[in-house]
Amino acid sequence: MTVGINQLVFVCLAYVVILFAVAFLAERASAQGRFGAILRSPVIYTLSLSIYCTAWTFYGAVGYAARSGLEYVTIYLGPSLVMIGWWWILRRLVSIGRSQRVTSIADLISSRYGKSNALAIVVTLMAVIGVTPYIALQLQSVVLSLSIFAKAEAAGGQAFNATPAAFWVATGLALFTVLFGTRNLNVNERHHGIVIAVAVEAVVKLVALLAVGIFVVWGLAGGLGETLARIDASDIGEWEVQGSRWTALTFLSAAAFLCLPRMFQVMVVENDDERYLQFASWAFPAYVMLMSLFVVPIAVVGLDLLPAGSNPDLFVLSLPLSQNQNGLATLSFLGGFSSATSMVIVATLALSTMVSNHIVMPVWLALRQGGATQSGDVRGVIILARRMCILLIIALGFFYYRASGGSGALAAIGTISFGGVAQFLPALLGGIFWRGATRAGAFCGLGTGFALWIFTMLLPSFGVDVALSKETFEQGLLGISWLRPQALFGIDGLDPTVHAVVWSMSLNTLAFTVVSVFSFPEPIERLQGAQFVNVLDHSGPSRVWTASVAGSEDLMIMSQRIMGATEAQIFFRKQTKAQGLSGHLPEPTPAFIDALERELAASVGAATAHAMVSQIVGGSAISVQDLLAVADESAQMLEYSSQLEQKSRQLTETAAQLRAANEKLTQLSLQKDGFLSQISHELRTPMTSIRSFSEILRDTGSLSEEDKTRYASIIHAETIRLTRLLDDLLDLSVLENGQVSLHLGQEPLHSVLARAVTTVVSGGDGRLHVHIAPQEEDVVLNTDLDRLVQVFINLISNAQKYCQADAPALTITPQLTPTGLAIDFVDNGKGIAGDEQAVVFEKFYRVGGSQGDGAGLGLAICQEIMERLGGQVRYLDGSRGGAFRVTLPHAAMAGQTVATS
Ligand code: ADP
Repeated sequence: MTVGINQLVFVCLAYVVILFAVAFLAERASAQGRFGAILRSPVIYTLSLSIYCTAWTFYGAVGYAARSGLEYVTIYLGPSLVMIGWWWILRRLVSIGRSQRVTSIADLISSRYGKSNALAIVVTLMAVIGVTPYIALQLQSVVLSLSIFAKAEAAGGQAFNATPAAFWVATGLALFTVLFGTRNLNVNERHHGIVIAVAVEAVVKLVALLAVGIFVVWGLAGGLGETLARIDASDIGEWEVQGSRWTALTFLSAAAFLCLPRMFQVMVVENDDERYLQFASWAFPAYVMLMSLFVVPIAVVGLDLLPAGSNPDLFVLSLPLSQNQNGLATLSFLGGFSSATSMVIVATLALSTMVSNHIVMPVWLALRQGGATQSGDVRGVIILARRMCILLIIALGFFYYRASGGSGALAAIGTISFGGVAQFLPALLGGIFWRGATRAGAFCGLGTGFALWIFTMLLPSFGVDVALSKETFEQGLLGISWLRPQALFGIDGLDPTVHAVVWSMSLNTLAFTVVSVFSFPEPIERLQGAQFVNVLDHSGPSRVWTASVAGSEDLMIMSQRIMGATEAQIFFRKQTKAQGLSGHLPEPTPAFIDALERELAASVGAATAHAMVSQIVGGSAISVQDLLAVADESAQMLEYSSQLEQKSRQLTETAAQLRAANEKLTQLSLQKDGFLSQISHELRTPMTSIRSFSEILRDTGSLSEEDKTRYASIIHAETIRLTRLLDDLLDLSVLENGQVSLHLGQEPLHSVLARAVTTVVSGGDGRLHVHIAPQEEDVVLNTDLDRLVQVFINLISNAQKYCQADAPALTITPQLTPTGLAIDFVDNGKGIAGDEQAVVFEKFYRVGGSQGDGAGLGLAICQEIMERLGGQVRYLDGSRGGAFRVTLPHAAMAGQTVATS
C-alpha cells in the first residue's frame, strides 16, 4: 500500500491550514500584545534563521554527500562561523538595521550610500536575478518529491504531470505569502505570523530529517557501528578534501548567509532584540549540526540499498518509501515541503518589499505630479504593489523552473544563487566598517562582481551551447582568449566554482575599494557613513535638516497615508509631547523630521521615505540650501567669536585705561600732598618773619625809630608777598578747576604788549631793556586780553627777575605762522638747562631752588591761561638766553590787520 498523490495533497493542505492557523493566531496575539514572551524569544529567532536550510539542504545535502563526499559540510560551516563570530559583524548589522529602521538589504545598502535609490534598484534587481533560480529550485524540489510518490503509485493510477503540480504549489505559496506577508503595512516591517510559521516549519524539518536518519541508522543499517563500517567501506569515506573548493564554498555560504535577502529579513528586519544574537550564536550552529548529522549515513545507505540510477537528491524520501514506511515518508515529505515553503515565503516577502519600495513606489511617486501630499491612501498602493510583486516573483520562479526544465543538481543551483548574492558583501561590509566607502565605489564593485558572476557562473551553468556558445567556452568572449568564462585572464585549471568566486569577489572588492578611495562622497553619504560605522558608539541621529520649511500638517497628511491614521496620530502626539507642546502637531524640528523619516522608512524604505519627506520639507537630500545654512551658521559663529574677541580687546583696553587712570590718581594724590606741604612751607616762611618782627616791635621797648620803620617795612613786604602768593594760588585753583569765564575783547597786539611792558618796567629797577621787534602789520587780537596781558607780564617780569646779564635785555618778536600767531620772549640771560625746560611749568618749581620773591607759580599760571585761550606757552630751546614762545590760534585773532604806525 502506497501513499497516493491525493492523500499527499490532502496532507499538504492540512499542514498548510495548520500553518495558517498558527500564523493567524500569532499575528492576532501580537496585535493584542499577548504571548510576547513566546512570539519574541531567542528560540523563535534562532528557529526562524533556519530558513537558511531550504529544500536544497534538506534533500540536496544528501545528494551532495553522495556525489562529493564531505564537501556538503561547507554549506553549514560558513553560517556557523558567521554566527559564532556574531558580535563582529552581525551585531553591527542588526544595530544598524534597528537604528535606521532598515527594511531590506537593498534598503541598507542604499541608505548607507546616501539613500541612493539608484543603488537600491541595482541591489534589488541583482537580488531578484540571484534568488529567482533559488525559488525555482524550491518548486522543483517539491515537485520532485511529489513525483517520487507518484512513481510509487504509478502502477495503479494516472501519470504524474510535473508542470501543473509546480503551478499549483507556486500558487499556494503565493497565496500564503500574500495573506500573511501583506496583511497590513507593518510597523517596523515585522511579520510575527510568518516568523512563527517559519519556526514551526523549522521544527518539522529537523524532526523529519532526524526521524529519517534514525530510521536509516538503526532501522536499516543495523546500528551505529554498522553504519560507520558502511561509511568506511563506501566511496564517501575516501573523498579527498580539496582545500581551495572548501575555502571557496565556506566563504560563499558565509557571505550568502549575510547577504541573502531572506536571511537579512529574518536576521535583521524581524529581529526584536539584539541580545537574541547571543543565544543564536550557539543555538543556530547546533541546529545546523543536527540537520547535517545523518546526511552521510543516509547517503551511504541510500547508495547501498537503492537501485543504481536513483536520484541521490531524493534519498531522504525514497529510502523510507522503498521500505514501505509510508508514515515516515510522509513526514519526510512534509519536512522538505516545510523547507521549501518557508524559504519561498520569506524570500518573496523580502524581495517584494525591495521591489515595491525601491522600484514601484519611486515610479509611482514620480508619475504622480502632486507628490506625497496629494490625497489618497498610499498604504493601499504599497500593499497592492507588494502583492503584485509577490505574484510576479513567484511567477518568475515558476517560469525559470519551466525554462530550466527542472534539470540540474539541486546543490549546483544553490551555489550559483549564493555566488550572486555574495556580490553584495563588499559593499555591505565596507559600508558598515569603512567610512571612506562611497556610492560610486559600491556601484562599481556591485557592477563588476555581478557581471563576472553572470559570465563565469550563471551563464555557464546552463551548459555548453545554451547561453554561451562552445566557442565562447573554448576561445573566450568575442574570441578574446583571456575572456573565457572558466579561465578568465588565461588562468586555467581552476575548479569552475573556485574560479568564479575568486574572480568575481576579488575584482568586486578591488573595484569597490579603488573607486571609493578615488571618488568624492556627497555630504549625505558622509553623514550616513558616519552613522553606520559608528553605530555601536552612539545611536543618535546627526543628520542636517533645515527645519521650519515644512508645515507639520503636510507631514501629518502624508504620514497618515503611509502609517495609517491612528498610528500617525499617535506618533505625532508622542512627538508633540516630547517637545513639551500640547495638541497633535509638533514643531518641524530637525529631530522630529528625522524621527518621522525613520518611522516612514520602516514602511517604505529609507530612500523612498527620504524622498517623500524631502518633497515636503523642501530640498532634496542635503540640498545646497542645507549646506549654506550650515555654512551660515558657522559664519555666524565666526562673527560672534570675532565680536567676542573685539569685546575682550575693548575690555583689555578699558582695563589698561583704568589702570592708567588709577596710576594718575595715585600720582595726583601724591602731587596733592606735595602741593599742600609746599603751600604750607611757602606760607610759613613769610608768616614766620611777620610774626617774629611784629613780636620784636611789640616786646622790645628800646627800639630806635629807624629799626621800627625797617621792621615794619619787612612786615609790609612779607604781607605783600603773602598776598601775592595767595592771589596766585587762588588764580591757579580757579584756572585749574575750569571755572574761568573768558571776557573777550579786541585790541591790536602791539598795544597789548606795550601795556604789559609798561606795567613791568615801571614797577622794576629800570635795568631791563625791553625791545619789541617791529612788524609790518599789526594783528588785532580777539581774546581775553586781561588774561593775555597777565601771561605777558609774567614772562617779562621773569626776564627781569632771572636774567643775570650785565645789561639785561628782552626781545619780544611776534610773527604770523600757518597755525596762528607766535610771540617769542627771548632775553640775554643764561636761560634754562635742557632737563629743566619742561619742569619749570610745574607748580612751585624753581630752577636751582632759587629763592627770591617768586613761589614758582608764574609759569604754571601762564600755562593754564594759554590753554584756556586755545594757545600754548612753551620753552624755546636753542636760543642763547631764556626763551619762551606763546602761540595763539587764528581763532584768537579778529582777522583784520592794521598798518603799524
Ligand atoms: P616765579 O613765579 O617764582 O617767577 P616761574 O614759574 O615764573 O616762578 O618760574 C620758574 C623758574 O623758572 C624760576 O624760578 C626761574 O628759575 C626760572 N625762570 C623763569 N624765567 C626765566 C628766565 N627768563 N631766565 C632764567 N630762568 C627763568
